Amino acid sequence: MNPKSQETGGSRILLDMEGALTARDRVGIQDFVLLDAFTSESAFLDNLRKRFNENLIYTYIGTLLVSVNPYKELNIYTKKQMDIYMGVNFFELPPHLYALADNAYRTMIMESNNHFILISGESGAGKTEASKKILQFYAVSCPKTKLLDTVRDRLLLSNPVLEAFGNAKTLKNDNSSRFGKYMDIQFDHQGEAVGGHILSYLLEKSRVVHQNHGERNFHIFYQLMEGAEDEMLRWLGLVRDCQKYSYLVQGDCARVSSINDKNDWRTVRKALSVIDISEGEMEHLFGIIASVLHLGNMQFQTDYRGYATLNSNTELHWLSKLLGVPMQVLREGMTHRKIEARAEEVLSPFTVDHAVYARNALAKAIYGRTFTWLVNKINESLANKDSTRKTVIGLLDIYGFEVFNINSFEQFCINYCNEKLQQLFIQLTLKSEQEEYDMEGIEWEPVPFFNNKIICDLVEEKHHGIISVLDEECLRPGEASDLTFLTKLEEKMGSHPHFVTHKLADQKTRKTLQRGDFRLLHYAGEVTYCVVGFLDKNNDLLYRNIKDVMRQSKNSLVKHCFPAVEPDNKKRPETVATQFKSSLMGLTEILTSKEPWYVRCLKPNDAKQPGRFDDVLVRHQVKYLGLMEHLRVRRAGFAYRRRYEVFLQRYKALCPDTWPHWRGDPAEGVQMLVTHLGYRPDEYKMGRTKIFIRHPRTLFATEDAFET
Ligand code: ATP
Ligand code: MG
Repeated sequence: MNPKSQETGGSRILLDMEGALTARDRVGIQDFVLLDAFTSESAFLDNLRKRFNENLIYTYIGTLLVSVNPYKELNIYTKKQMDIYMGVNFFELPPHLYALADNAYRTMIMESNNHFILISGESGAGKTEASKKILQFYAVSCPKTKLLDTVRDRLLLSNPVLEAFGNAKTLKNDNSSRFGKYMDIQFDHQGEAVGGHILSYLLEKSRVVHQNHGERNFHIFYQLMEGAEDEMLRWLGLVRDCQKYSYLVQGDCARVSSINDKNDWRTVRKALSVIDISEGEMEHLFGIIASVLHLGNMQFQTDYRGYATLNSNTELHWLSKLLGVPMQVLREGMTHRKIEARAEEVLSPFTVDHAVYARNALAKAIYGRTFTWLVNKINESLANKDSTRKTVIGLLDIYGFEVFNINSFEQFCINYCNEKLQQLFIQLTLKSEQEEYDMEGIEWEPVPFFNNKIICDLVEEKHHGIISVLDEECLRPGEASDLTFLTKLEEKMGSHPHFVTHKLADQKTRKTLQRGDFRLLHYAGEVTYCVVGFLDKNNDLLYRNIKDVMRQSKNSLVKHCFPAVEPDNKKRPETVATQFKSSLMGLTEILTSKEPWYVRCLKPNDAKQPGRFDDVLVRHQVKYLGLMEHLRVRRAGFAYRRRYEVFLQRYKALCPDTWPHWRGDPAEGVQMLVTHLGYRPDEYKMGRTKIFIRHPRTLFATEDAFET
């Protein structure tokens, strides 16, 4: 046993707590690998439920952590708890996020390599909470030799800022992430957190202009309305009443009992200054948020020629002030579009529908670009300028798989992203694990698993996938529509086992589909997508003259968001889905170069209630997350493997025959070493180039022998 855990009073208490309750019957088993040899899904579920009922929300499958959302505050995230978990081996304490975070950290230090923690699960399962807790753990418990409190504060406070601008209440989760986030925490060679970097993925911009019933716009709008001082609201031309703003009333739930917008406003204001946003920038930032609300209230009517004119000048006046562009220029931009005709530019007036479309497009663009600016600002403030080598732990927290009554382009992208992460998980665990045993000549009983690559291909394959078909239709303006897109899909995907539409379905399934729908059989379940809006959202078109108007702005933030030369100043910018696909490919590359750790979050019920464990719901998640397969692979497999040379280098001092130099074959040296250490034959296997150790305990014992 690690001496540290014996010394730590707190950890004794904790151990005794689980020990006294032992009573496996009551609290279940803390590592599924230790459940009886044959594990059924029911036994798996029983174990999870027992533990959940005792507020033990974490359980291991080897080094993977399963977490069940308690939907209530548990007293397990205190500083004392952090101290208990610091520097203690994985299996010596009850499962915890901190144990996983600490082990990733210590492996990083010991092996001087990069790691990432993949947190997955459906919407509301607890991914964002988990990622925040891991970040807190690092911020609080890592060594502090330099005066780097600012870095730590910035790392921590980047969260409330990004959540204010990128999270919203949905029907699944009151604080649902509407963007994907990958955050690198950088450590120096002493293990001190010295910097960070954030990559954000596809913000759900459509929420700015449209919310379904029971959902809200991004939190920041309500925080501003509730929290801002009267004077500030006056300056922004706003009144303190969400009901007055058309972008805030559609969901009919401006107030949410679990959210305190006023307090959150204070936190965000403070956080913004910690991440180095100046007072002037803040003014501009809130000016932009307010201008989005004014845009939403801009109404049009039809003039005698059938074209759109503005109902009133009130919004125009505020927009002109807040966005820093002359009223007249803005009016023209909101009601006309410039088209090139025979080398001449002419103004073509909008119809009312068209004007509403252009107005919404501008609101989405302003908000989306401001969000990107904010991420960049945070990155500037987290950047570590010194050039010494650093290692990183990456935290991935992305929007979870979601199914609503009506699913659109946004759900399509979000669920595709979840397919990709599941694919990565499969590649890194189930598939590569088994391939490695083959390669190393380790005897092995293969474990069958469902590989969702077929669904990823269906979505993303070049020339054949759904995204390709969608892009092709986006290239035929005027001729193509959402429905021609659907027809093309039917032609191309017709017989695909994971794709079905009303036309292709058998009689029974047909009853469950509308004519404008297509259904994908995702790894996590069926989702029916309504094609309406797919082309528009994929094009994400913002008229050129509106961009030109914004470029003339006197407001430096607006100017920054609409630069004279756009970064993607191609004739045809990439579509949203294709951009997203490329960014996910980039993410996969980033992750595969690092060592993985996994947190699989489960949602215990759909009512967001504590104490309710819905068997059917949890069973479904256990199934699609591939937890049973993972358990089988883990149980039959080996938790730890290292190349002979590396293993020998680290532990050679423990055996007189290998110390100080072993000049023979490394495999023979390792054999001698482990025989000397008394490894039992069933505890390890010798492969072609590596030693495989079945259980981490064996290795921890060796580590302890090494330390003492
Ligand atoms: P999405 O994919 O929609 O972003 P998510 O998986 O990130 O979902 P969270 O926002 O982390 O879900 O969790 C939803 C809610 O569940 C939290 O706001 C919180 O109320 C509760 N919750 C999650 N994890 C915990 C926890 N460990 N302890 C207490 N409450 C939790
Ligand atoms: Mg989240």
